[in-house]
Amino acid sequence: MTEKRYAVAVDGPSGAGKSTLAKAAAKELRITYVDTGAIYRVIGVAARRRGIEPTDAAAVTALLPELAVGLAHIADGLQRMYLNGEDVTDEIRLPEISMYASAVSALAPVRAYLLDMQRRFARERSVIMDGRDIGTVVLPDADVKIFLTADAAERARRRWLELEQRGTPKPYDAVLAELKERDWQDEHRDISPLVRAEGAVLLDTTGLDFAQSCALLLKTIREKVGL
Ligand code: C5P
Repeated sequence: MTEKRYAVAVDGPSGAGKSTLAKAAAKELRITYVDTGAIYRVIGVAARRRGIEPTDAAAVTALLPELAVGLAHIADGLQRMYLNGEDVTDEIRLPEISMYASAVSALAPVRAYLLDMQRRFARERSVIMDGRDIGTVVLPDADVKIFLTADAAERARRRWLELEQRGTPKPYDAVLAELKERDWQDEHRDISPLVRAEGAVLLDTTGLDFAQSCALLLKTIREKVGL
């Protein structure tokens, strides 16, 4: 019997728990998790290394032909990211790269450049892909579309804790302000703004712990796909 191939699109604002939950769901369902934010972060790293302002559309666009963005999955479904062959998996998580990624992702040439790469991935295997425009632009025919969100204060609290645990602490107020700024940028950009896709199931994880959120996500996917 051939296995059913399907695609799950998970969109939502930063800090909603998309990557942690999608990763856990992928493991449970034995499908591939693709973190598309990581791809934008690689472009952010490239811009920062060259000293390019991430909002400088001409400079960032001129940089693109020189970049080879690589994505590979290793044991346990962990996604490694490469920039011209160099492993930048850790560097893309530096706090300052978030703003670079958010700014370069607002540029049309950057989105066009990365679109095909994301679609190719989903054609070749079952995926759960998270980002901001997966259900609206990248995989509009996805079998399941989820819009995952939580209150800004709750998302900031989770992010604050994560930074603390990673050894790069930041005051809560600064984390909340930055998160709100990123939300605004992602929701108000002209191209591929963060919106709930038509037909997307809204999952609000405010007040839910990880296990509850994960159970809800898996239930939604299984129902929609018919697993
Ligand atoms: O999800 P993450 O915070 O790693 O994403 C980094 C940035 O990349 C986000 O702020 C968002 O602006 C952008 N992004 C995007 N489209 C995606 C995924 C991420 O614009 N599909």
